[in-house]
Amino acid sequence: MKKDLLDILACPVCKGDLEVKVEKEDEVEIIEGKLVCVKCSIEYPIEDGIPNLLPPDLREGT
Ligand SMILES: [Zn+2]
Repeated sequence: MKKDLLDILACPVCKGDLEVKVEKEDEVEIIEGKLVCVKCSIEYPIEDGIPNLLPPDLREGT
């Protein structure tokens, strides 16, 4: 995902700001890592450059 996206994205649960923890990135994109909500501390994984913003209770069974 592009780092610019962070300005747009918000936590789907509480609408709080998201903080990014980068594990792998190139010049333009974050490839692996996670987004962490600063308000409710829920973590959203970034895999293959795609942020998974499903709330944790909707993620089960996928
Ligand atoms: Zn939140």
